[in-house]
Amino acid sequence: MQNTDSLEQRSSIEAPSFDVIIVGAGFAGMYMLHLARELGLTATILETAPGVGGTWFWNRYPGARCDVESMQYSYSFCEELQQEWSWSERYASQPEILKYANHVANKFDLLRDIRFNSRVASAIFHEGEDVWQVSTAGGEHYRAKWCVMATGCLSAAQRPNIPGLGTFKGEIYHTGNWPQEPVDLASRKIGAIGTGSSGIQVVPELAKLAKHLYVFQRTPNFSIPARNQPMDSAYEAEWKQSYAERRMAARTMPAGILSDIGTKSALAVSPEDRLQEYERRWAAGGTGFTGAYSDLLKNEDANSTAAEFVRKKIREVVTDPAVANLLAPVHPIGSKRICADTNYFATFNRQNLTLVDLRSNPLQEVSENGLTAGSQFYELDTLVLATGFDAITGALSKIDIVGRQALTLKEKWRDGPNTYLGLMTSGFPNLFIVTGPGSPSVLTNVIVAIEDNVKWIADCLAYLKTRGAETIEATASAEEGWMEHVGQAAEGTLYTKAKSWYLGVNVPGKPAVFMPYVGGVPTYQKICEEVATDGYRGFVIEGRSESLRARQAVG
Ligand code: NAP
Repeated sequence: MQNTDSLEQRSSIEAPSFDVIIVGAGFAGMYMLHLARELGLTATILETAPGVGGTWFWNRYPGARCDVESMQYSYSFCEELQQEWSWSERYASQPEILKYANHVANKFDLLRDIRFNSRVASAIFHEGEDVWQVSTAGGEHYRAKWCVMATGCLSAAQRPNIPGLGTFKGEIYHTGNWPQEPVDLASRKIGAIGTGSSGIQVVPELAKLAKHLYVFQRTPNFSIPARNQPMDSAYEAEWKQSYAERRMAARTMPAGILSDIGTKSALAVSPEDRLQEYERRWAAGGTGFTGAYSDLLKNEDANSTAAEFVRKKIREVVTDPAVANLLAPVHPIGSKRICADTNYFATFNRQNLTLVDLRSNPLQEVSENGLTAGSQFYELDTLVLATGFDAITGALSKIDIVGRQALTLKEKWRDGPNTYLGLMTSGFPNLFIVTGPGSPSVLTNVIVAIEDNVKWIADCLAYLKTRGAETIEATASAEEGWMEHVGQAAEGTLYTKAKSWYLGVNVPGKPAVFMPYVGGVPTYQKICEEVATDGYRGFVIEGRSESLRARQAVG
């Protein structure tokens, strides 16, 4: 049901009131609720899904699995929690991560303050009252002083604009919005579109089930074998003996992941040593492969040594040289998010799989019974869209967010998102964003990024509460300075050399702006802490007491 109330009507509606409204019950929203309660604030979460877990609730496609090791992809804020939980595999599967999310929700008694099946349609700041009115698609209204967008970076599934998609008579599934009920894929003629992380995980599973699987590939991607395995109990025990220290050490690493990162240039070692190092990392498995040398994401010559190594591996695994050639990526390795897989390339040796290269046979249309690429028609029963997300800003742009002077966030971000520290955007007081654009977010173990952002927001709320402050807002000049810094940090990296969702170019009409902050977790966290210690430098804080009315340091 559409929310059709006018702004004036909505303003006058009696609505349950909270100190904090949190949008989203993923890992960010759950931790935010926990900390808000610890501060003695009243808080509620509004969540579209009927359960917790956020992106892990929706991404339940066969093969969905995290590519950060389980011992690290979990909350660190509670020693008891990290000691009591046991992961069964080196890399956790989606069902296990969802089980963990539910465990956390129960342990911290979060469910009583989560309103499920509540998709937020709008959030409107009422000036004068200094209140956010948040309304759901179902027509419910809530009011709060503080609003925290815990909407996730990879939560708005991107459906491709393929002519005729709506006419297809078979089933269509999107990996990012997979049905909650069981899906029968056995003995189907399946077409899978997309070969990013999701496609690379789902393809081997689909191939096991399908009568025939057609993989429609536009851009091949780099993937490293995950070498997933049952959790080694000695390894788990080792972690648990010094969990807190290891979590702290992880936060000294750029991606917030405790890993073995090379400090030398790839070009400063002999070809033999380099090969040995790449072989060692290939055998160890996982996305840590690109940590082999310090300049793999900065220097194209260095990068091509790693890229060529992986291309050679693909050619060794895939028996048909023509297919291997099509699967060999040409962009710099790591410039698009690197993938981790289980038997992805080997799956292309199966008799029931056909790789269709969309670069030479462009996708023409979907019709009732299949799909045409180039001049060839492929008869299909089922379409699996592994076509990714409107990343980082997509979930926010689905909500009608209105700040001061009726400025909409969509309008403000028309040429690309602007934030201060990724946490707030000027013109939208009291609206916090967790892992927003301009923060390290997707370039990290996102749970680390989430915990750090949420803790910062909670500390900020505590500061505001003790001072009786009414509003906090990023200044335009602080925001400008931060965005300049974010842009400069991305310059000189190879991230901008590929057409990726980091830049938003996978979404038609989205401005091409590199959105994450590449400065790394330690640098970012230090800046965030300094800003707070410095009385929230770059924010205007206004409140009841006259002293707070004085504008704090600007810019
Ligand atoms: P993605 O990386 O954006 O990949 C989407 C794929 O769909 C690309 O191959 C893209 O081709 C293709 N595509 C999109 N529109 C198309 C169209 N109209 N016609 C043909 N092909 C089209 O999305 P994703 O695989 O869902 O992954 C997104 C991110 O989610 C990952 O990078 C990762 O951060 C996260 N993720 C993580 C895991 C994990 O932890 N293991 C698993 C899944 C996802 P082009 O490249 O040519 O655009």
